Amino acid sequence: MTSPAYEADNIFAKILKGDIPAVKLYEDDDTLAFMDVMPQAPGHLLVIPKAASRNLLDADPAVLGGLIAVVQRLAVAAKAAFDADGVQVVQFNEPAAGQTVFHLHFHVIPRHEGAILKPHAGGMESIDVLKANAEKIKAEL
Ligand code: AMP
Repeated sequence: MTSPAYEADNIFAKILKGDIPAVKLYEDDDTLAFMDVMPQAPGHLLVIPKAASRNLLDADPAVLGGLIAVVQRLAVAAKAAFDADGVQVVQFNEPAAGQTVFHLHFHVIPRHEGAILKPHAGGMESIDVLKANAEKIKAEL
């Protein structure tokens, strides 16, 4: 089945345009990283390309190398910032696979041995907690 086209009014496109706020961690010409507002664990962040694509399936392969390098950098920083035992990197394609926002993004989630994740896209975290967690990660970049 063919995937639907990219929709330019998705929430991450609005963050890229500056139309809605985000707790930002890192930005370069091609990539933006910011805190997930409904974290599954402390330090849960998202990395997105500035180039428009709905998900991995329609992404320009030329974008992916730089993007995954930023994912790696943020994963290392988030692991250190939260003294985590591991880091989960997750990426969903289409609703059947759990995708809810239709602009390509990678989740980066610090994991601690035995700690159970909160539900995907569950409760909102307070902005103060998100900002404090962002400062911890930025200090490791
Ligand atoms: P998914 O598309 O299922 O991979 O997940 C989308 C993720 O985006 C979820 O983890 C949401 O908590 C997160 N999210 C939704 N809206 C925002 C927002 N405005 N800022 C940051 N994260 C968001």
